[in-house]
Amino acid sequence: MKNIDTFYVNGEWAAPAAGATVMDIVNPATEEVVGKLSLGTVEDADRAVAAARAAFPAWSQSSREERLALLERVIGLYKARLPEIGEAVRTEIGAPVGLSNAVQAPIGLAAMQSTLQALKTFEFETSHGKNYVAHEPIGVAALVTAWNWPLMLIATKVSAAIAAGCTVVLKPSEISPLDAHIFAEIMHEAGTPAGVFNMIYGEGRSVGARLSSHPEVDMISITGSTRAGVEVAISAAPTVKRVHQELGGKSPLLILDDADLQAAVQTGVVSVMMNSGQTCVAPTRMLVPRARYAEAQAVAAAVANAFTVGDPADPATKMGPISNRAQYEKVQRMIGVGIEEGARVVAGGPGRPDGLDKGFFTRPTVFADVNNDMTIAREEIFGPVLVMIPYDSEEDGIAIANDTNYGLAAYIASGDPDRARRVANRLRAGSVRVNGAQMDLSLPFGGFKASGNGRENGAHGLVEYMEVKSVCM
Ligand code: NAD
Repeated sequence: MKNIDTFYVNGEWAAPAAGATVMDIVNPATEEVVGKLSLGTVEDADRAVAAARAAFPAWSQSSREERLALLERVIGLYKARLPEIGEAVRTEIGAPVGLSNAVQAPIGLAAMQSTLQALKTFEFETSHGKNYVAHEPIGVAALVTAWNWPLMLIATKVSAAIAAGCTVVLKPSEISPLDAHIFAEIMHEAGTPAGVFNMIYGEGRSVGARLSSHPEVDMISITGSTRAGVEVAISAAPTVKRVHQELGGKSPLLILDDADLQAAVQTGVVSVMMNSGQTCVAPTRMLVPRARYAEAQAVAAAVANAFTVGDPADPATKMGPISNRAQYEKVQRMIGVGIEEGARVVAGGPGRPDGLDKGFFTRPTVFADVNNDMTIAREEIFGPVLVMIPYDSEEDGIAIANDTNYGLAAYIASGDPDRARRVANRLRAGSVRVNGAQMDLSLPFGGFKASGNGRENGAHGLVEYMEVKSVCM
């Protein structure tokens, strides 16, 4: 049992203010309670903001070298605790050991290394004749994160904010508190000056809402659902703080008629099912040339059916459970909606996989006979559910790809790089990946439309936490 009953405020571990509630930390693979988490109140948010505010004048004046040295110490300590971090992610969200140890934990490291590289060369001041433009930290940044790639989100935001010279209050997801706690320990051990990094746990509607509306918070950065992002923006509006949103997605994989169909479908299905479909950029709408629709369904079904679902501690497991009960119930409900709307299940379907009668396990599910107006094609399900949609021409494929409220990512499969580039330029999404290309953490990341505002990673991620000042001499 792990009891988390302290927050990290002003360089110390502190008990929450009176009125904190306690929630169970549940292992989603067993449904067993593995710990207890204290959830703070508005008062805790206020204390953390006060600490961050008090630390801002000094940290905002710290040198590039001081910030680099801090980040390097954090990176070194994080590296040393990678196995423990992987274990925490497995326990709290059920990511299989292969994924939690080899991807979930190290990606936090990669995110911080990306910030480190960007900080090394960032031009805080640019000359314009006698005049100059200065980039200065925006102030106190509140950082609110989701549970699905918990360390990547925390490490990306915290490293960028601190590198920019901001002081921060982190409110990680209440669903994934274990890894966040390790992260706060690392920040402490690294000798982060008191108040520069603060972390409190709490629910979105109380602590999250207080941080968004707090007059002493200069910027709020949230990664979460579009619903939460909208609520944050509404409560942030009266204080005119900067709002940075990394929100949901319903990303298309547009398989062009000159693509290697087998490879494209296989990569697409695997990308959806990884992390039990709980990835904001998952290519959950697969757009297939009508002439090859039947062939693509057969490949997709075979790949989905071959996914081993089960105990996340077993190295043979490719897919663990959904990370929490509410999300599991939502995914099950959406599978039901797909069937009611007339889509055809070609793999998976409702309920748990055979042989798994407890844990939030879900069957890797593929729907065909889907049109882009169906609920399962429009709404983010955030589970291992792929919809396959046929299209008739390249124009038609592009139109369907763009016919979504979201715009986080888009994927293209094509045998012709020039064609892929031409199509990429027409897709309304913050990042486009061609033929299974991996994400590049040095490039900007963020969404068009309801997927968000602002960018993370590299120099773009740093600028997000800065004000720009023109000085005319
Ligand atoms: P969520 O919106 O329920 O919660 C995200 C965070 O926001 C949590 O810390 C939560 O406590 C907080 N929150 C909720 N309501 C709030 C409010 N009214 N005010 C302030 N804070 C509030 O999302 P989740 O279930 O944790 O994560 C899944 C969602 O996150 C998906 O929609 C996914 O696409 C999205 N996501 C986006 C990205 C991205 O980079 N664009 C990355 C990962 C996840």
